[in-house]
Amino acid sequence: MDANELTTLDLSGKTVVITGASRGIGAETARRMAAAGARVIINYHSSDAAAEGVVREIGERAVAIRADVADPDAVKTLIDEVVERFGTIDVLVNNAAVFEYNPFDGDDYEAWQRGWKRTFDLNVFAAANAAWLAMRAMRRTGGGKIINVASRAAWRGETEFADYGASKAALVNLTRSIARACAKDNIVASCVAPGFIETEMAKPELVKHYDEIVNQIPLRRVGSVGDVAGAILFLASPMGDYLNGVTIDINGGSWFQ
Ligand code: NAP
Repeated sequence: MDANELTTLDLSGKTVVITGASRGIGAETARRMAAAGARVIINYHSSDAAAEGVVREIGERAVAIRADVADPDAVKTLIDEVVERFGTIDVLVNNAAVFEYNPFDGDDYEAWQRGWKRTFDLNVFAAANAAWLAMRAMRRTGGGKIINVASRAAWRGETEFADYGASKAALVNLTRSIARACAKDNIVASCVAPGFIETEMAKPELVKHYDEIVNQIPLRRVGSVGDVAGAILFLASPMGDYLNGVTIDINGGSWFQ
């Protein structure tokens, strides 16, 4: 990378694990990290072809590893495999998540509970477990960074996705706890909180409420995956080394804390 020390985003020699990177924000984050010189582990759950496509696009610095990170055993197998193959994890991006309709006024109590459990298993517990496991390697090798992908919903709540909003608030808080507890081991944590971004996850809501959504955004456009991946790259890079416990809002000005 042609950058001097004052401006460098260089991640040469770093190993980066990105959960949920077969498409959307995770895939773009993988592309950017690899462009900055990192080796990237593209985790995914079911989309083999999409994950292989991202690996092909990036080339030799990318590896795809299938694992349902909501399963505590599978996330352990994933982290162990990465550490065994590449020595450590320098940056963990907890990105995989689920966003499913689960209204307060539904009539199926079982479905309500299933929604909360599925959402917390993936959006919160997977991130906490992956962080805990990755830190064991980070401590051995002098430190690392954990970057959590939260959401504007963490601040705003959600009318039809309350489990999702609560899970993202939990991630913001997890970030702060890691920041306070683990800096002694040179492990820092940060978070991004995107507003609506053009991806498969957001598509159904964007199709239903596009005008309403865009009208809430002073920049008058929905975000792109690059808008989020650029901020994650910055946090992962040496430019972000003194950021610890922060959450960066990436929402075009549609919500201020
Ligand atoms: P997306 O397009 O739905 O992509 C989700 C990714 O997660 C896919 O690669 C999927 O791979 C993977 N995944 C799903 N379940 C998994 C599991 N159990 N284990 C491992 N990987 C799994 O989502 P996105 O919009 O890019 O969202 C990425 C992050 O940004 C999420 O944390 C989301 O909450 C957050 N965010 C998104 C928006 C938005 O408007 N898009 C707004 C705010 C925050 P498989 O298909 O292989 O399962």
